[in-house]
Amino acid sequence: MSESSGTTYTIAHEPFGTLPDGREVLQYTLKNASGITMKVINYGGIVTSLLVPDKDGNFEDIVLGFDSLSQYVENNPYFGCLIGRYGNRIAGGKFSLDGTEYTLGRNNDQNHLHGGENGFHTVFWNIVAHDSPEGPALKLTYVSGDMEEGYPGTLSVEVIYILTDSNEWKIHYRATTDKKTIVNLTQHSYFNLSGNTRRDILGHELMINADRFVPVDATLIPTGELAAVEATPFDFTKMKPVGKDIEQDHPQLQTGGGFDHCWVLNESDELLTHAATVRDPVSRRQLDVYTTEPGIQFYSGNFLDGSLTGKYKTVYAQRYGLCLETQHFPDSPNQEHFPSVVLNPGEVYETTTVYAFR
Ligand code: BGC
Repeated sequence: MSESSGTTYTIAHEPFGTLPDGREVLQYTLKNASGITMKVINYGGIVTSLLVPDKDGNFEDIVLGFDSLSQYVENNPYFGCLIGRYGNRIAGGKFSLDGTEYTLGRNNDQNHLHGGENGFHTVFWNIVAHDSPEGPALKLTYVSGDMEEGYPGTLSVEVIYILTDSNEWKIHYRATTDKKTIVNLTQHSYFNLSGNTRRDILGHELMINADRFVPVDATLIPTGELAAVEATPFDFTKMKPVGKDIEQDHPQLQTGGGFDHCWVLNESDELLTHAATVRDPVSRRQLDVYTTEPGIQFYSGNFLDGSLTGKYKTVYAQRYGLCLETQHFPDSPNQEHFPSVVLNPGEVYETTTVYAFR
């Protein structure tokens, strides 16, 4: 194991494997003052493991993932990945800017999902130790070329992961472009607070700070409506078990086989909105999510089907992990009344999301 050093924290790295084209993938280990440990690889900016204590102080892994690089390369349902240029779906893989239509890859039936086949989850990120007074940190950078995956403009992206000594995983996203473009970056870790994925996430309790959500059509593209959650299974305004209403006979639960929707976060005066809290009543691990983004996609791991075996020899059956992806709403480039995802030259795209461990 070798080490690269920031001002106050030392970050170890070790080989994680070799890509088919010969590039060596490294895994970096961040450990904060309380012993919370996060591992990150430079392929896809993937968080491969995150050790967090339970009520008795037992450190266990709360994110889904694989033991080997080849599994991440060959068949990864976005475990741990950085997602770009556009997190979530764009209808028909098409959008227009100033009268010019752009065509993106259709990698999710007729739609574009998570930046396309070769989105940011598959690229090689340059990683350096980042000096932060808050805790050990990494700076990940990537320059996405003009028209990469069909998106206009050269996009320079910087993502900072900080594992703060206050027990948070803080993510700062930053991007600039040389041509008008769209951008919506997110992180796609699947959480299972039971530790080492002992059971499904249906018993986890969840709160989402949102009075409205974004209903979708049969291909999971927004209908354009922002619907009230009140008196629907989508009401997570108070903590309730994920499994409580998931099997209800509601048309929106049929499309994605469970929860796979974006919630419209209630506005707050704070810079960072408290977006969600998820808690496992058995281990008593809790995760609070804060963000500057207007939405959060809660995906209840519906498409996991037992065909993947991950770390700890766990078979990832349906709903063995959940994602809380902070972002702008799906298909925003084609929905004029949704908050804009356009980035112009000279502007700086800057967002922050915090996952706090309690
Ligand atoms: C989407 C799901 C999709 C999953 C892929 C989530 O962000 O909302 O529909 O299947 O990513 O892992």
